[in-house]
Amino acid sequence: MKPSDLLMPTPAGLYCPPADIYVDPVRPVARALITHGHSDHARAGHGAVLATRETLAIMALRYGEAFTGSQQAAAPGETIRIGAVDFRFVPAGHVLGSAQIVVEHKGLRIVVSGDYKRERDPTCAPFEPVTCDVFITEATFGLPVFRHPPAHAETAKLVDSVRLFPERTHIVGAYSLGKAQRLMALIREAGYERPLYIHGAVEKITEFYRAEGVPLGEVRKVEPSERKAEERKAFAGEIVICPPSAIQDLWSRRFPDPVTAFASGWMRVRARARQKGVELPLIISDHADWDDLQATIREVCAGEIWITHGEAEALAHWCGTVGLKGTPLHLVGYGDEGEAEPDARPAEVSA
Ligand SMILES: [Zn+2]
Ligand SMILES: [Zn+2]
Repeated sequence: MKPSDLLMPTPAGLYCPPADIYVDPVRPVARALITHGHSDHARAGHGAVLATRETLAIMALRYGEAFTGSQQAAAPGETIRIGAVDFRFVPAGHVLGSAQIVVEHKGLRIVVSGDYKRERDPTCAPFEPVTCDVFITEATFGLPVFRHPPAHAETAKLVDSVRLFPERTHIVGAYSLGKAQRLMALIREAGYERPLYIHGAVEKITEFYRAEGVPLGEVRKVEPSERKAEERKAFAGEIVICPPSAIQDLWSRRFPDPVTAFASGWMRVRARARQKGVELPLIISDHADWDDLQATIREVCAGEIWITHGEAEALAHWCGTVGLKGTPLHLVGYGDEGEAEPDARPAEVSA
């Protein structure tokens, strides 16, 4: 059997004909396997969804309980047979509940990694490499300029800045699923013990992480208040975490003399930080950087690498230089959440 008989790219997403099921479909389908809860992978309106318990819970939080006709939870490592195909969910280290999906049929094994990272993350299970014939990877940061510094060092920059400017509010943009909670956990690991403030859009997912046992310390929602002058004073010297879009909103104007920060792998691109008016760029990413993409590809020992989205050509080219067959799939519809900013080009990187 050819790999493309087991999984084939279609406009709706990767399709597995012998099981009649899609992986992370971007359109409503009868049956879907979902790698993780980010909105570009986990969409509402499918007939049936198979995903980890955490991913199902995140989808219900975001879309409501009726996000799918029926649902089934996959335990980590459990093999689930659909048709004659075996599926197994293995941790991807991306966000809470994120999984790679191992697809196996007639001796052929394909791993759909979804989004993943290799750096330690106190909020989710670490990526587990699975050897395979075909490895399907994203390439969001698939260029040599993208080398993420250690997240704890970036977090230290934020905590140091708060100590240096006790009169100013530090407003940190972070994606509401995963990045925001990882940042909170990292801030706690850095020894910061004051309450952390959050935008309302981050609240539900944060409470879910807490319920799952992720230590976040005291977290308070920023409440709208009429007493503006008092409110401004109350946030002096505090850290407020909000979705990236809220940094430039009216919402952020309530804070006194704010330092605006943004936690993203894209903050490696200095021109991008400047353009967004980010004073304190924090290079913290939930995606593998250039080195980790390569290390992972070597580790899984696959002869063929399929690249779903991101810098697919660059990574495919690298595969060729080390004797592997790299194929860009040009899947459309991914990269809307997480680290998505497809217009950022390496030309913008300053030295
Ligand atoms: Zn993601
Ligand atoms: Zn994604």
